[in-house]
Amino acid sequence: MNKKLYVISGSSGVGKGTVLKGFLERNPHYMLSISCTTRKPRPGEVDGVNYFFLTREEFKDCIENDKFLEWAEFAGNFYGTKKKYINQCLEEGKDIILEIDTQGALQVKKRMPEAVLIFICPPSYETLENRLRGRHTEDEATIKKRLDQAKIELERAQSFDYRIVNDDLETAIKSLEDVINKECNNA
Ligand code: 5GP
Repeated sequence: MNKKLYVISGSSGVGKGTVLKGFLERNPHYMLSISCTTRKPRPGEVDGVNYFFLTREEFKDCIENDKFLEWAEFAGNFYGTKKKYINQCLEEGKDIILEIDTQGALQVKKRMPEAVLIFICPPSYETLENRLRGRHTEDEATIKKRLDQAKIELERAQSFDYRIVNDDLETAIKSLEDVINKECNNA
């Protein structure tokens, strides 16, 4: 059976992590890719679990040595997916989910046209702003950068295969399951 690569993107603060967590709890055989980043860990984040936290030098070194399937600069930090990690998962026969930004998602689609791109949208821009502020994990300048980025991401979402609105969490998880099951049956 063909193994599939799913790419999930969404504006920061849209709750894509929560939707994905709900999906993975019910579908534990899907593998969530662990990205590399130069961003500092947030409280509770663990190296090798949430991200591989790299210095800017280490990250640049990976770019120069063509180690990334995709990478992008997002709100002042670098994020990337290691080719080796993805190939290993596919070889082990696992369906993989990447939770990455829209620039990265479009790069993956170019290299792997069979990848399925899913965008999680907020019900409105105002909801997104409230959620991002309510998280209390970023300072004002970072929040502003992320809101500007959110506008760009909503435009890029037009080229995704699917868009899911996260208004009600349960409905959003169910929609994600429906999309992935449909794609799985088409494999
Ligand atoms: P955060 O700093 O909130 O964890 O992530 C910020 C943004 O970076 C999110 O939109 C997240 O999806 C994206 N991101 C995380 N990992 C990667 C990656 O490996 N590649 C790309 N292109 N974006 C990523």
